Amino acid sequence: MNKHGHKLNEEMKIDHVIIGAGPISIIEACYQISRGKEVLIIEERDRPGGAWGTIQYDGMPNVEVGCHVWDVSLPAYDFLEEFMKLKLQPLTPSPKIKRKLVRIPYDWKMNIATLKGVVRNLRTLNFKHLKASVHQPDFRWSLRPSKYLYPVNGAKDIEQAIHRLIEEYNIQIIFNQRVKSIQNDEYLKVDLHDGTRIVSDRLTMTSLSTVDSIVLNKKPLEFNVKPVDYIHLHLLLEDFEVRKFSYERVFENELIHRVSDMTSQVENEIDDSQYLLCVGVFENEAKAIGEHALKDKVILHLKELGYIKGEGEVVSSGVNVYSSFYNDPVYLEQVKERSNQKISVLHSTNFTYGIFHQLDRWRTVLTATN
Ligand SMILES: Cc1cc2nc3c(=O)[nH]c(=O)nc-3n(C[C@H](O)[C@H](O)[C@H](O)COP(=O)(O)OP(=O)(O)OC[C@H]3O[C@@H](n4cnc5c(N)ncnc54)[C@H](O)[C@@H]3O)c2cc1C
Repeated sequence: MNKHGHKLNEEMKIDHVIIGAGPISIIEACYQISRGKEVLIIEERDRPGGAWGTIQYDGMPNVEVGCHVWDVSLPAYDFLEEFMKLKLQPLTPSPKIKRKLVRIPYDWKMNIATLKGVVRNLRTLNFKHLKASVHQPDFRWSLRPSKYLYPVNGAKDIEQAIHRLIEEYNIQIIFNQRVKSIQNDEYLKVDLHDGTRIVSDRLTMTSLSTVDSIVLNKKPLEFNVKPVDYIHLHLLLEDFEVRKFSYERVFENELIHRVSDMTSQVENEIDDSQYLLCVGVFENEAKAIGEHALKDKVILHLKELGYIKGEGEVVSSGVNVYSSFYNDPVYLEQVKERSNQKISVLHSTNFTYGIFHQLDRWRTVLTATN
């Protein structure tokens, strides 16, 4: 039974259903609740957090599941500090892109993205779009790299903030349940895996919500979902000489695509001579090598790439696979249009940009609570 007295396992009526309990969905729930809506989140995992969850391996502190970086958006950083009460600090040294022997600031990718956008708009003579893109966070030139902020204790802080918001806003969540299908009529009919039907006025999904079928106006929607298994290896190292870095995107290596030094997130829980590194490895290579041999192979590559030197001990290690499914943006647009905006989509493939695009609406929650 939920707080409104609706029974599960039979048809229940709710104002607004949200798929997933990742941070973007949780903030949306707070926003809808602050507008007086009755909200229900359906989450297929057993806890909130989505991609910003943590993992507990044997012999290692609780640590975030993967290598993460937040792209620069000062308005989004401010909102996260104020609304989620996160304490953010600059990643030091600043994030880099590593290609063969060269390391360049991660921020310089903005120059390429911005240039590509300008050329595309000029080529199609789309001056209106060009004018609008100037105000987007991904339109910027970078000479001196900007500061990349991140929570002091990583995703642990995000998880804590999410739990606080769930309590403060009394957000109703059904865990271990998947939204299987959605169809529209006078209301939206949202079917869960266990056969429960939820009838709602509105539904919100994100770029990473996947539903088996959506039928709108009696026509099924053709959609394209890209499944991605993110595989990360965490290593608790002792006595190795470790290069100073924060987050690096690695190109032209057959095994490793990104690396994070998470030592500062757990420094009170490990010895001074220890480092905690997280390594993102390519899905196919990792699966071919197998979990047992992966650790030794990654250590060899980390040495070759110059991240670690000398001889030391791997005190503990762990591999996790985070399966996710990316929706085709064209399909998401169709969902919005054909549902007459009863289904809304929050773009969430980039965390801070995803926040930035909702700020006009979400800032009203701050005004209401201040
Ligand atoms: C491994 C990984 C690493 C990432 N790293 C970065 C990064 O470094 N920087 C960055 O900006 N962005 C990153 N992203 C993108 C990230 O998804 C978004 O930044 C952000 O987490 C989106 O928030 P969200 O609220 O959409 O939820 P997400 O964190 O994407 O979680 C979606 C949630 O919805 C649930 N769900 C999906 N479908 C259903 C369904 N049918 N029924 C019930 N529950 C469902 C899932 O279980 C999950 O908990 C990463 C994504 C992944 C998967």
